Amino acid sequence: PVRVRFCPSPTGNPHVGLVRTALFNWAFARHHKGTLVFRIEDTDAARDSEESYNQLLDAMRWLGFDWDEGPEVGGPHAPYRQSQRMDIYADVARKLQEAGHAYRCYCTTEELEARREAARAAGKPSGYDGKCRELSAEQIAAYEAEGRTPIVRFRMPDQPITFTDLVRGELTFSPENVTDYGILRANGAPLYTLVNPVDDALMEITHVLRGEDLLSSTPRQIALYAALADIGVGNGSTPQFGHLPYVMGEGNKKLSKRDPQSSLNLYRERGFLPEGLLNYLSLLGWSLAEDRDIFTMEEMVAAFDIKDVNANPARFDLKKCEHINAEHLRRLDVKDFIEACGPWLKPPHAPWRPEAFDQAAFEAIAPHAQTRLTVLSDITANVDFLFLDEPVEDEASWQKAMKEGSDALLRTARAKLADVAEWQADALKEAVLAAGEEHGLKLGKAQAPVRVAITGRTVGLPLFESLEVLGRERTLARIDAALA
Ligand code: GLU
Repeated sequence: PVRVRFCPSPTGNPHVGLVRTALFNWAFARHHKGTLVFRIEDTDAARDSEESYNQLLDAMRWLGFDWDEGPEVGGPHAPYRQSQRMDIYADVARKLQEAGHAYRCYCTTEELEARREAARAAGKPSGYDGKCRELSAEQIAAYEAEGRTPIVRFRMPDQPITFTDLVRGELTFSPENVTDYGILRANGAPLYTLVNPVDDALMEITHVLRGEDLLSSTPRQIALYAALADIGVGNGSTPQFGHLPYVMGEGNKKLSKRDPQSSLNLYRERGFLPEGLLNYLSLLGWSLAEDRDIFTMEEMVAAFDIKDVNANPARFDLKKCEHINAEHLRRLDVKDFIEACGPWLKPPHAPWRPEAFDQAAFEAIAPHAQTRLTVLSDITANVDFLFLDEPVEDEASWQKAMKEGSDALLRTARAKLADVAEWQADALKEAVLAAGEEHGLKLGKAQAPVRVAITGRTVGLPLFESLEVLGRERTLARIDAALA
């Protein structure tokens, strides 16, 4: 059975790279009817925070992910927060040392740095040189007497390590490039290098799908797996690894956590639909079919095969992300669209008095908005003319639309609109068309001043439907105000 894990560290705000990793693991688990383990890697007390932990959970729920083991749902390998598993790591580290798979290293940071420099200068690989591998009891006693506190290092085998990456194919790492590495700090705190594979082994993870930035950890972890099997930790098997491509941002640089574009909160605040955002993120390294960019998560799950993931870096394209979100908005049932707009029709987003909001008017205009929005937060400015006492003041729009002759046109339009028998979009359009003709203006030109007088803006929802919903009285009053 397939068992995959999503195991973020709770630092900072959730970002799109992390969501992409979660998505691919989730889709892989669901496709194979396997188990998704959600584990929190919070062993770095200096960087991890409870606030980030809560944000992570909230983000996962908002995105619509479910997990089979982990926080809130529990499971046979609980606890799923590494900060609550410290005894396990201490025990494993001790066993690794007893079996000779790990050893104490007394080299100081300065000594290590000096030797690295020398190796570099000589054009040699600059990883750990193995100095403390075979210390005698006397050497250890001498170091201890000097007051040195050792770290614990894992002893890498002296043979190359080869594995078949699910995305990249066969890879080989030579021993000079993968040297003995620290698993415990001098204060005894376990490092990612230890806790991550130990938990993957104990939790019987079968596939590790994670970002390319962790590729260099993989040969180390594979060696550690063999040692864990030797000391009887886990079920003795090594997972398969697949490394997801880098995501590139502006200027073809790796999209970093610190890039504002990468913050998940930004997408939530702008009103992306989770399914729109996930659809886009799935395209960062994968595709459903050459000619299909828009699909549901069910369709992704049905089609997802890790072998189809492309190893080349993927470019993050905000415009495309928005376009895909707009398509998902369009596909919503109008009722669901109306409901999804809810938060943006209230304070703090909505600038109108809450009691001025009119649900029936909103529902009448909503279908016209649904086909035009990119993100839900756009709804506020598109409908504010209905609920504000006066249209927004937008100097630029006013300048653009109100030209010489606009007043005359507005007067004619007002007279014709006042005469319309039934206040309904087609008739309103006829009225403005006729007013334009009297002044030698095509509909587009004639509409512009009317639109600005009514909504305060040069662009917006279809004008005549907007007037219909706004009503005769308010429409005429706004034209009067513009003429005053
Ligand atoms: N906690 C690690 C991270 O967030 C997990 C890496 C892994 O998937 O192995 O980078």
